[in-house]
Amino acid sequence: MLCDFVVRSLFMLKIRQKDYEAIRRHGEETYPHECCGVLLGQMDSEIREVTSTARCGNTRTDSPQNRYHIDPRELIRIQREGRERGEDIVGFYHSHPDHPAQWSQTDLGEAHWFGCSYVITSVAAGKAATTNSFELTGSEEKDKAFVDEQVAVE
Ligand SMILES: [Zn+2]
Repeated sequence: MLCDFVVRSLFMLKIRQKDYEAIRRHGEETYPHECCGVLLGQMDSEIREVTSTARCGNTRTDSPQNRYHIDPRELIRIQREGRERGEDIVGFYHSHPDHPAQWSQTDLGEAHWFGCSYVITSVAAGKAATTNSFELTGSEEKDKAFVDEQVAVE
């Protein structure tokens, strides 16, 4: 006898309503350019919990509609300030103006924080639409991959 199994992602990103709204609003404000920022909070092996977000300036001036880049110095500052509050970097977010909330090969190529969440919000005609999250799995460049994860807004 065959059984049907519903395969659910083991990975989950927990985020508060106010932080969820903040990252979606950020994408609306920078439209038609991509926004980007950092998710801070706590993580264990399967659940990342966001307790604050930090906006970053998109340093990609050559192609801000479909690229984002966070200045490493800005990232170090955000990490240091987070640690002072007892928070670690648990993920990153950016927007896809007029594109689906799915990761691109460029997103994967530029993702280097294993075990972190990468949240993408599609912004259609200036309004935030879908928000999806992906965990960067693997341990080195050649085996890295994005895996869908649930987003639990509380
Ligand atoms: Zn992207």
